[in-house]
Formats: sequence, C-alpha cells, structure tokens
Amino acid sequence: MPTRKLTVDEIRRAAEHLARDIERLVRRPLRLMEVCGTHTVAIFRSGIRELLPPELELVSGPGCPVCVTPAEYIDQAVRYSRQPDVLIASFGDMLRVPGSFSSLLAEKAAGADVRVVYSPLDAVQLAGEYPGKTVIFLAVGFETTAPAAAAAIVTAERAGLPNFLTLSAPKLVPPALKHLLDGSGTQVDGFLLPGHVCAVTGLEPFGFLAVEYGVPAVVAGFEGLDILQAIRALLENLAAGSPEIGNQYGRVVRAAGNPEACHILEEVYEPVDSRWRGIGDIPVSGLKVRESYRRLDAAAVRPLPAIAGTKAAADGCRCGQVLQGLIRPAQCPLFGRQCTPERPVGACMVSGEGTCAAWYKYGAGRWQQ
Ligand code: SF4
Repeated sequence: MPTRKLTVDEIRRAAEHLARDIERLVRRPLRLMEVCGTHTVAIFRSGIRELLPPELELVSGPGCPVCVTPAEYIDQAVRYSRQPDVLIASFGDMLRVPGSFSSLLAEKAAGADVRVVYSPLDAVQLAGEYPGKTVIFLAVGFETTAPAAAAAIVTAERAGLPNFLTLSAPKLVPPALKHLLDGSGTQVDGFLLPGHVCAVTGLEPFGFLAVEYGVPAVVAGFEGLDILQAIRALLENLAAGSPEIGNQYGRVVRAAGNPEACHILEEVYEPVDSRWRGIGDIPVSGLKVRESYRRLDAAAVRPLPAIAGTKAAADGCRCGQVLQGLIRPAQCPLFGRQCTPERPVGACMVSGEGTCAAWYKYGAGRWQQ
C-alpha cells in the first residue's frame, strides 16, 4: 500500500515529540556512539545535536570506510598506479586519501591511469574494454560494499578475464566494536548500528554487545526521524536495564540480513586480522580473497617488494583517537588550521562521511573543545 509523505510541519512535530521523550529518558550523563559515517553526517544535517539534552553526548565511531583504510594500503595502490600497464579503478573518495608519500590523486595528476568507478562491476567492464591493461579495483569498505566487490570477482572469474585484479581490504564492523569495548578506553553506553551494514549481516553478529558487554544497540535508518527514534529506543532499553539489540530500520533491515549477500561474501572471502588506520591491528576484522579466487588477488599475483619509510599517519594527526570516540575532532590541534577538507592531513577530513570533515562542515567554530 503506498504510504503518504509527511509534511514539513508533521516532521517537525514528530521530531519535537521524540526530543521530549528523549529528554524525559535521560537521567544521567550518557554517551551513545553512532558507528556509521553516514549517520554522523545525517545527525549534523538534521540538527539533531541541538535537540538533545546536554547530558546526552553523541560520539562518532570507526564507520567511515575511507577513514579506517590504513596508509600502507594507499601506499600499495600508489605503487601499483606507477606501473605502466596498470589501470587503477576506485571509488572517488579514495583518491584524496593521503598515504605515506603520495595519494592517488597526485599520481593521477602526474599521469597515472587512475579512474573513478561507481560500482565494482564498472571496473570489470573496464578490464573488458582495455585488454592491454591490468585493471586493479580497490576493494575497500565494510559489509555494505564487500558483497558487490565479491560479485565483481565472481563475474570476472566466470568471464575468464585475465586482466582484472582486486586489491582487497574490506573490513568487518562487529570486531571493531568489540575492540572498542575491550579496553581501548572508549566509554560508550549504547550504539546506533549502521543500517546499511545490518541490511547485509542482520542482527546476530552484533548480539555479543548485549550478551557479553551489557551494552544495548539499535539499528538506525538515515533520516532525522529514524535517528531520533533509534536514540529513544536505546534510552528506553537502557532505562529497562536489560540490554538488547533492537531494530528501528525494519523497512530495510531484516533480522536475518541478506542471505544472498552473505553467501557470496562467504564464497569469495575469508576472515583475517586487519589493520585499521590510527587504531592498529584488530583480530578477524577484515576479509581476504579465498584460495579459490586467489588468481584475482593483486597482492598474491603481483606482490610488491617491501619498502622502508611507510608512515601510519601524518605527524600530529589524531584520527585514531577520533575514530574511537576518544576525542572530538576539534581537540586535534590540526583541526581547521593545517587540516581542512580542502587540504586534508588525515583521512577523517577527506571523505564527506569522515568525522572531522562533518564537524568542520557543520560545526566548525561552534563546538566546544
Ligand atoms: Fe586527522 Fe585532520 Fe582529523 Fe586532526 S583534524 S584528526 S589531522 S583528519
């Protein structure tokens, strides 16, 4: 049955109603973490922070894929881009991410063949169009985008394309949240879970938050009202004192997730320890291409010799602490001075979903240190 769109006045009244409920439910200082970079931006754009009582703090988590991709990965991509037969295919926001000594945008400006694609299958198509090139697709992201990268690998394999490879470093969200709760110093009373990720994984992989750590979590959609509803549900759960994993994005997320997407992930990738920018190595928090598809894994078939001089982060950059909710962006001494969206020093300032970029765009100068 078609649903009627709410008028602006109806949305405003609903938001005010939710804000009153939230204010009533906050009885002590609380910190909730929105894990996903899309939520961070939606929270700013909707003005949600201004609606919340001062005792309720929202902190951003490690859910921006560009932000958590380590400098070593960018270095590898840069070095591949310098090989004359290679065409690098990447999502656009990866191009500006600084590595230890260059970025893909700088290499493109210097003549490297670096192309922006909107889907991994676009990269497969490029391999068909340019048989004289080896197309390397930069497969980064979370459970959200990893199934599409896996589908590209299966498609290229079935098509017998000899010149399609991926530089694969997809990451998994649940182990990162476990890392945050396992003594990173992050204080969090509840999580707003990323709706896109949960649409693939379902709720079960996040069950440990409530069972092992007693921390509730709620899957949230991306409209302002979705987020306010999820915050209210989290607060109700905290007030009830029996932590659960809730779902306030039922129009998209099923409890069991997307079985087809999970199946292709399982077919192509296997879990592996993975390095997160500024955070370090997190056990079984990444995916690597399985042996059966290793022919399409750039790191396996075109290994790069080790080099000295790689750097985990630029001097002074505190992305790692920002990504773990340990500091607010404005507490980084480079924020808004040496580091701006036009001249990013760290990865969190590059992507539109980066925490530092969102704080700069929507709140620079207004947020307290
Ligand atoms: Fe890194 Fe820039 Fe954010 Fe500082 S403001 S943490 S340098 S991205």
